[in-house]
Amino acid sequence: MKYLIDTHTHTLACNHAFSTLEENVAAAASKGIEILCFTEHGPKMPYAPPDWFYAELHRIPQIINGVRVLTGLEANITDDCGSTDIDNMPKNAIKFVIASLHKHTYQPSKENNVTQALLNLLDNPFIDMLGHMDTPFFSINYEAVIKKAAQTNTLIEFNNGSLHGVRKGGEANMFQMAKYCKKYDCLAAFGSDAHFSMDVGEFSTVAGILNELNFPEELLINDKPDLFFDILKTNGKHI
Ligand SMILES: [Zn+2]
Ligand SMILES: [Zn+2]
Repeated sequence: MKYLIDTHTHTLACNHAFSTLEENVAAAASKGIEILCFTEHGPKMPYAPPDWFYAELHRIPQIINGVRVLTGLEANITDDCGSTDIDNMPKNAIKFVIASLHKHTYQPSKENNVTQALLNLLDNPFIDMLGHMDTPFFSINYEAVIKKAAQTNTLIEFNNGSLHGVRKGGEANMFQMAKYCKKYDCLAAFGSDAHFSMDVGEFSTVAGILNELNFPEELLINDKPDLFFDILKTNGKHI
């Protein structure tokens, strides 16, 4: 597969990544990535950008050095109801939304509430992708969540960064995720979750795992820009 889309990248703006947007764009261009999702963390993440950052996303050019830049966000799921920290933000400049579970921003009141939080979240039509559900820090009923994601036009992310230390131990969870994406024909995406420009467009570890599982390429959107944009438009994005 020729990868044309990276769905998940960070910059210096979040205060725990190390490259600028222009450095990420240059890396994307050098790897043949045509669509770069710039998905900075939502405001509840420790050391997240100030409110002004989110209000100024519209200033970023849509195309930089030939690369289409989609100004998105990685929203934090914040409670058992499936609320996120971007629910009340102006939406015009937001072209892509990942919703992720982070232990810094959500502690379920009971373990099985995590699945209910995700099911509730999926009723929010503005969410485009569930981020790094392989996380070993939460207990998730993957079948229930992925079955509903397939019905709500929500991508399941296979996160390359997870396999490089930040969420060690989630590999078995990825097997489950792949199994249920296949069972329910749920579309999925690779995300690099790059926190340094050299990692932009880097999916080799996660692709290796999915290849071993014979994951069908038809379910992966990284080489399908038209399908990707159709999903985003259906979910209310002004692309
Ligand atoms: Zn994350
Ligand atoms: Zn991230």
